[in-house]
Amino acid sequence: MPAWSSVRDDFPTLHQSVHGKPLVYLDNAATAHKPRAVIDALSHFYARDNSNVHRGLHELSMRATDGYEGARTRVARFINAAAPEEIVFTRGTTEALNLVAASWGGAHLKAGDVILLTEMEHHSNLIPWQQIAQRTGATLRFVPVLGADAEDGLDLAALDRLLTPEVKVFAFTHASNTLGVANPAAALCARARAVGAISVVDAAQSIGHELVDVQVLGCDFLAFSGHKMAGPTGIGALYGRRTLLNAMPPWQTGGGMVAQVEYTHATWKPAPERFEAGTPNFADAVGLAAACDYLDALDRTAIARHDHELAQLAADRLRELPGIRILGPRTQRTSLVSFALPDVHAHDVVTFADQDGVALRGGHHCNQPLMRKLGLTSTARASFYVYNTAAEIDALVASLRRIQKFFA
Ligand code: PLP
Repeated sequence: MPAWSSVRDDFPTLHQSVHGKPLVYLDNAATAHKPRAVIDALSHFYARDNSNVHRGLHELSMRATDGYEGARTRVARFINAAAPEEIVFTRGTTEALNLVAASWGGAHLKAGDVILLTEMEHHSNLIPWQQIAQRTGATLRFVPVLGADAEDGLDLAALDRLLTPEVKVFAFTHASNTLGVANPAAALCARARAVGAISVVDAAQSIGHELVDVQVLGCDFLAFSGHKMAGPTGIGALYGRRTLLNAMPPWQTGGGMVAQVEYTHATWKPAPERFEAGTPNFADAVGLAAACDYLDALDRTAIARHDHELAQLAADRLRELPGIRILGPRTQRTSLVSFALPDVHAHDVVTFADQDGVALRGGHHCNQPLMRKLGLTSTARASFYVYNTAAEIDALVASLRRIQKFFA
C-alpha cells in the first residue's frame, strides 16, 4: 500500500538527472509518471496472461478476458458508475469525446439545435463538436470566460441567456488545462438537465487529482485518459448512462461489436461492446485498473489537497517575479499554473528551465481560441502531481529568476 512519505520512491522515472540536475517534473497535466505498481501490472500481464480477449476458450484468453472485464468493473467503481456496462474503453479523452459527438450527436442533432460549450475547452472538446455541427446544421454557443487573465472563471450569470431549450448538449471541462480553475460540474449538469439537454464532462484534468463521482456530478457522459492519472498511455474511458449508450449507433464497426452479420447487413451488441470494434487495448486496461488501485490507496481526497495546495503555493510564489502574468483564479487553484513572463517567449522559458532540470510545458496548450481571447499566443505551464514537493517549487522559481536575468 503506497504511503505519502515514500510516494516518490514508487515512481522510477523521477530518480534521474537531466543536464546534470535532479529532474523536477512539472509537466503532469500533459502526462503523469507511472508508479511501479502500474509498470509491474503491465509486465506481469504481458509475461503471463497475454492473449486476445473475448474470442478464445483457452486458459490464457480467459485470463486476459477476466483481466480486461475486471478492469472495466474497477474503472466503474473508481468513478461510481452504476454498472460496468457504462464504461466504454477508448484510447483516451479525445477518442471518448469524438465518440459522443459523432455517435450521439450524429443521431440526435439537427438544424436549429444548439451545442453549448465554454470558451475554455481543450481542442478535444471543441473540434469534435464543430465537426458534428457542420454535419448536422446545429450551431455552437459558448459560455464566456471572465477577466483579463480569466481570473473570474466562467460567466455563470450568462447561463440564463445561453441555456435555452434549443440547447441539446452542454459539454464542458471539469478542470481547465490552462487556467487552473475547476468548474462547478454538478451544478452545470443540473442546469443542462433542467432544459432537457444532455451533459458531457471532460474530466481529463480532474480524474487523477480528486474524487470524480458520476452519480454526484449527475452527468450523462464523462471522458478521461489513463495516462494523466498514473496509468498507461493509449487507454481511457467514456462513461455513458446505459440507456443513452444503448440508444446510440456504433461509431466504428468491425469484429467484437456485432451480434449477427449477414453479407449485406449486421446487428450490434449492446454497450459497451457496441463501441469497442476490433481488438481492444486490454493490456493497458489492466494497467489502468492498477492505477485506480494506486490512487485509491493513496486517498483521492488527500491527493486533491496536496496537488491543489502545491499549485496555489506555486502561483503565490510566481507572483514575486516582476511583470509575470498568471492566468486563472487567485485562490482555489486546481493542480496547475500557467504564466507568461514579459518579453520571454514560453518556448524559451521551457528550454531554459530544462537546462535546470525543470520540465515545464509551453505553448497554446490546445486552447488556441482562449489564448487569442486573452491576447496571448502561448504560456508556460507548471503542473503538479502526487510526487511533487514544495522544494521543487523553489527550484522552479530559481530557474525562472535566472531566465529573467538572462533576458533582461
Ligand atoms: N481535455 C483536456 C482538458 C486536456 O487537458 C486534454 C489533454 O491535455 C485532453 C482533453 C485530451 O486528452 P488526451 O490527449 O489524453 O486524449
